Amino acid sequence: MEARCCIVGAGPGGSVLAFLLARAGVSVVLVEAHADFERKFRGDTLHPPTMELMQAVSLSDRLLALPHSKIRAFTLRTPRETLQTANFSVTGSPFPYITMLPQARFIETLVEAAKKFPTFQLVQPASVEALILENGQVKGVRCHHPDGRTTEIHSTLTVAADGRSSTVRRLAGIETIKTSPPMDVLWFTLPRHSTDPEDMAGGYLGRGRILVVLERPNEWQVGYVFPKHAFQKVRAEGLEALKKSIAETNSRFADRVDSLKDWSQVALLSVESSRCKEWAKPGLLLIGDAAHVMSPVGGVGINYAIQDAVVTANVLTESLLKGEAPLRLLHQVQRKRQLPTKIIQFIQGQFQKFIISQALDSSRPFQIPKAMRFALSVPILREIPLRLLIKGIGNVHLKKQSVNSNRNA
Ligand SMILES: Cc1cc2nc3c(=O)[nH]c(=O)nc-3n(C[C@H](O)[C@H](O)[C@H](O)COP(=O)(O)OP(=O)(O)OC[C@H]3O[C@@H](n4cnc5c(N)ncnc54)[C@H](O)[C@@H]3O)c2cc1C
Repeated sequence: MEARCCIVGAGPGGSVLAFLLARAGVSVVLVEAHADFERKFRGDTLHPPTMELMQAVSLSDRLLALPHSKIRAFTLRTPRETLQTANFSVTGSPFPYITMLPQARFIETLVEAAKKFPTFQLVQPASVEALILENGQVKGVRCHHPDGRTTEIHSTLTVAADGRSSTVRRLAGIETIKTSPPMDVLWFTLPRHSTDPEDMAGGYLGRGRILVVLERPNEWQVGYVFPKHAFQKVRAEGLEALKKSIAETNSRFADRVDSLKDWSQVALLSVESSRCKEWAKPGLLLIGDAAHVMSPVGGVGINYAIQDAVVTANVLTESLLKGEAPLRLLHQVQRKRQLPTKIIQFIQGQFQKFIISQALDSSRPFQIPKAMRFALSVPILREIPLRLLIKGIGNVHLKKQSVNSNRNA
């Protein structure tokens, strides 16, 4: 099998890149290990700039026609006070909210749209297990199907979009620099009642635990945040203790925690934050979680993977159409995306240090730090970190490209 670009991994990063390249007429093969796109508790938080990108490629209406919810503001609550930290109307976007859409529906929409272009091929399910190398240059991948078959895909460029445990990154010998966020998260859902107030969404801090409550069409998605590596302890204390702790952190959930009957209803997210020093080698580029894992603070992971895909398409489409992917352009993608990633990871680190670590310390009552309380009381100061987290750094826009005209094989 041959293509100008082989993308490993149909997550948000890989599927957006595959769609954009196919739309521009680049022959592209997207390889996905899983038989479907179902992902429980993954990044479902589409930020305003992501919806603007989807509008630019005429997909926003299709996405918004699917069942979703909109988060327009985010509130922090401690046992003593309530503070509004974010109102997404300040972004000035035509989509002034976070669109909560199951990631599987987002990816299906992108892949279905990509299938309309003759230069797009999907290889699924197939797991990439080896790189094809010629004179030190990556020339494609070898993948294995569940029925025992093997397929070789030869390509000018291979893009690793295969997530935080990237096989391609390991095969290419690229290392990551890790920092250690102070928390892990259990994700689960709780029933949503028609009488629930809209402002139930938000962050609840206190008693050594944090609850992050996100609104879905028929349920609440809840993140139970606890100190790093304490899952064994949480589990040993038992489900009843977990339910009690949830109800203590947000008393409005006391009437429905009993819907948690089994540990299989909760998914553990081991929180990581990391980035690679090098994102590219001859013939190979890393994007999304394969290049950088973002802390969950601000829900930026999916949005950053998509922005990487857009920058990759902007920088590489013309070269790929000519059958080239020079290393200097791969480095250009890294340069454009590395600084925004570092800045956001720094902001997330500060939030983890001054808010999350303090709130997870059960030995003393949590109080919002004075500096933060002051910043939250001044609109302009409140908006700066919000704009950085939500809008990203350096506004990523899609370069104007003509739509697929069957320009290459
Ligand atoms: C529990 C959980 C909750 C999260 N919550 C949020 C959130 O609320 N907001 C947010 O923004 N982010 C969140 N994230 C992070 C977000 O999901 C990721 O940042 C985002 O999905 C990264 O996209 P990606 O395309 O880089 O990689 P991924 O989404 O990880 O996709 C990688 C794809 O590659 C495939 N793959 C892997 N190996 C191979 C192989 N060898 N061959 C072929 N295919 C392969 C995988 O099956 C997968 O489909 C969460 C993550 C987790 C784990």
